[in-house]
Amino acid sequence: MSRVWNFSAGPAALPPAVLERAQRELLDWNGSGASVMEQSHRGKRFIAMAAQAEADLRALMEVPADYAVLFLQGGATQHFAQIPMNLAGPDDSADYIVSGHWSAKAASEAGAYVRVNVAASSAADDYLKLPPRDSWRLDPRAAYVHYTPNETIHGVEFHDVPDVGDAVPLVADLSSNILSGPLDVSRFGLIYAGAQKNIGPSGLVVMIIRRDLLQRAGRPMARIFRYAEHAAADSMLNTPNTWGWYLAGLTFQWLLEQGGVAAMADLNRAKAGLLYGAIDGSDGYYRNPVDPAARSRMNVRFDLHDTALDAAFLQESEAAGLLALKGHKALGGMRASLYNAVPLAAVEALVEFMGDFARRHG
Ligand code: PMP
Repeated sequence: MSRVWNFSAGPAALPPAVLERAQRELLDWNGSGASVMEQSHRGKRFIAMAAQAEADLRALMEVPADYAVLFLQGGATQHFAQIPMNLAGPDDSADYIVSGHWSAKAASEAGAYVRVNVAASSAADDYLKLPPRDSWRLDPRAAYVHYTPNETIHGVEFHDVPDVGDAVPLVADLSSNILSGPLDVSRFGLIYAGAQKNIGPSGLVVMIIRRDLLQRAGRPMARIFRYAEHAAADSMLNTPNTWGWYLAGLTFQWLLEQGGVAAMADLNRAKAGLLYGAIDGSDGYYRNPVDPAARSRMNVRFDLHDTALDAAFLQESEAAGLLALKGHKALGGMRASLYNAVPLAAVEALVEFMGDFARRHG
């Protein structure tokens, strides 16, 4: 077996221990004689597994009791639309903080269902820094404030939860940094995350929503779009993504065994520190253009001093067992994604390769 060091932005690396356990259990899950994918979500085994996954996530994130945890589908993109459908009436407005590609997309998709007020944007700075909190023009009558704590493509991250007061619920797209460190869930009205970076395979969305927000009238819509219906049905309003839910549960158990989000915070700080240190210490051979105060721990962008070397860097890094370092096509350059399942050894191997490449290519 040859596993590479995987820096994919998503779908991304999963812990080998999780994959090995899934492999062991694939043909005969939990003594059932069938795989988890081959049985009813209404069966007692699946219901017990689902409840354990929720309990483990609640323990990891210290989710307060007045929040529902939902296991949904549709990707984060579907919820860009479904969140305004649920939290806002047709005449309401919502505040959006635009700090990169994904928050811009969330704002534009929401526009079909709510009046979008872009309360702050760093577009004019090419999203290289965060819009300073004192520049946000928040509307006290907004249905909610939406932001994206970590921008997967632009590589910028909020390192603190912004204070928006208590009156307007804060909504966060945590797709690319959920479970990467401690987070005070009580500061949020709604958190959502596509699973395919820090949790499991794609096709699953984890949502944590304050229960009072489930009562918002929103507008007439089919039951399948209504979060309150999903909550009332324990996320089994229709057939859930059983495989995704199962793998998410295995990842939550793995995280608990590793020491939870506090241990992940230490690991992620060490990994990002090592890589940014190598970039900054390369005498300009490699560059990260992001404001140091806003640099993402999860998605580290870097450019080579000469783009003519990009193709060689990608080819040689892949040959050295370092996968998926090509930056997003919108920005070019390189990007190393350092989610929870990427070990420190992967970043050590990358840093060593980068130094070696710089020496060989002058
Ligand atoms: N938000 C963020 C922060 C993301 O990184 C991504 C995907 N990479 C999305 C939303 C979109 O997720 P999906 O493809 O699951 O809809």
